[in-house]
Amino acid sequence: MSSVRRQRWDAGHAGVVHRTRARSNYYGPERVGPSSAAGEPAMHEAALTQGLVNILLKEAARHQVRSITLVRLKVGRMKAVEPQALVFCFGAFTEGTLAEGAELIIEPVPAVATCRGCGGDFEVIKFHFQCPRCQSRDVVLIQGDELYIESFDA
Ligand SMILES: [Zn+2]
Repeated sequence: MSSVRRQRWDAGHAGVVHRTRARSNYYGPERVGPSSAAGEPAMHEAALTQGLVNILLKEAARHQVRSITLVRLKVGRMKAVEPQALVFCFGAFTEGTLAEGAELIIEPVPAVATCRGCGGDFEVIKFHFQCPRCQSRDVVLIQGDELYIESFDA
């Protein structure tokens, strides 16, 4: 048994990956290349999953793991990732690899922002960046942009 913790595989900034072309400021360890089909939500998950699988396989090699049985992910709501699409892509990309058949656990992280007007925190629902208390739009995202492999079991 071995377990690897906290491998971030995407370092994009809040919101920028939401149905947009892969950005040049993407500086994650695994470049997924420019997206050829901007605007297609499925491409978003496919690109993310490809990066995820690349890192998993690299980590598995580094830890001399023979197979990966379970992967735990933390995915911020701001990433706008469709869990089912992620699971589907994961199954496709891991076929024939040592992660084939691994269970995927996706833990969503709520998007939370702090209001600069009143100092209160609130959950951002559907990209609505406005303080529910004072209606200010001067808010800063403090949580929900996460995207990492929390751990995997081998
Ligand atoms: Zn406020």
